[in-house]
Amino acid sequence: MSNIDPQQLLLPQEVVYCKKCVMSNQRPRITFNDTGVCSACTYSETKHEGVDWELKQRLFAELCDRHRSKDGSYDVVVPCSGGKDSSTIAHRLKHEYGMHPLSVTFSPPIYTEIGFKNLRSFIDKGFDHILVSPNGVINRALTKTAFVHLGDHNEIFDHGQMSVPFQVALQYGIKLVMYGENGEAEYGGTSRNNDLPGMPWDDFEKIYYSTGLDNLADIANDMGYLPKEYTKKDLDVYRMPEIDKLENLGVEMHWFAFYHKWIPQENFYYAATHTGFEVNPEGRTEGTYSKYAQLDDLTDAFLYYMMHVKYGFGRTTSDAAHEVRDGHINRDEAVALVRRYDGEFPSRNFKKFMSYIDLEHSEFTEIVDRFRLPHIWKKVNGEWKLRNEIS
Ligand SMILES: [Zn+2]
Repeated sequence: MSNIDPQQLLLPQEVVYCKKCVMSNQRPRITFNDTGVCSACTYSETKHEGVDWELKQRLFAELCDRHRSKDGSYDVVVPCSGGKDSSTIAHRLKHEYGMHPLSVTFSPPIYTEIGFKNLRSFIDKGFDHILVSPNGVINRALTKTAFVHLGDHNEIFDHGQMSVPFQVALQYGIKLVMYGENGEAEYGGTSRNNDLPGMPWDDFEKIYYSTGLDNLADIANDMGYLPKEYTKKDLDVYRMPEIDKLENLGVEMHWFAFYHKWIPQENFYYAATHTGFEVNPEGRTEGTYSKYAQLDDLTDAFLYYMMHVKYGFGRTTSDAAHEVRDGHINRDEAVALVRRYDGEFPSRNFKKFMSYIDLEHSEFTEIVDRFRLPHIWKKVNGEWKLRNEIS
């Protein structure tokens, strides 16, 4: 059985790394200019130089003025994991802009202790919060299917994470939904929305729903992963509300980072100071050198491990590339970090993850190797090596 991520089929056949940061041209939807610089670096230059941030912040204040409730009822939904970025956004909305945020989390498949603790600390600093947890039997089945067939177990979580804030907005009649950064612009992807304050509804569907929730559930059903009592209604928790309904209510989605200079490290300091955010007590996160990013989901390391398998770059590349762009480290340092940590096997939580998706180690390895493309990988003495490692 050969199932490959459709995005892998579109990759350039020669692996090239950005001359400025360390990002690879294998990142889906990224583009490189004539001088070998990636679109995320180009975006970053304008972010740091060509933008009138005071003006943008004024626009943001006006946006808040338009939406702020007079009686203290909720006026903005903040998708919030309790991580450094979303906690910072919710806190600033409340204390700097006088808004009344309702924070919302779509539960990861398995919470880490530190992730849940950070979420609690955030709530305890004065925030109303809704935790939406999908049916564990269905979620497990869909997570497994996504891993086996797409090499991306997180696909199903992504659906829930993107949809639930809008479901909550509709239920509570809240017209503003505040996301963090435009990932496509910040980390390299399609650049056509870089000048927009939020993503157009059409693109939402194209970028985040290309694989199709129903497709995935159909495969899970065919494989016998789903329980007998399963019906399509069980997918509603993952589903984006109808765009018409959102438009009728007048829901607007905005990126906080469109209006404010987005520097993850500064969000970390802010959240540590204001929302009780703590770093990973186990030290650096596996597969990278950082201690403070995306700590809440125990299965997260496998997402980045598979990214490394499928595209030849992993979490260290993503983290280091961003830090080069922000001027925290230089390219040589980034290269050294990538060569040291990228693609590290996530052994710490391997057993828990295997138990969650009910796979044996040998099945896992067989699935992983199915996603290795020959222009990225070669086998040397029985070990997989990148054909073109960064230097
Ligand atoms: Zn770059």
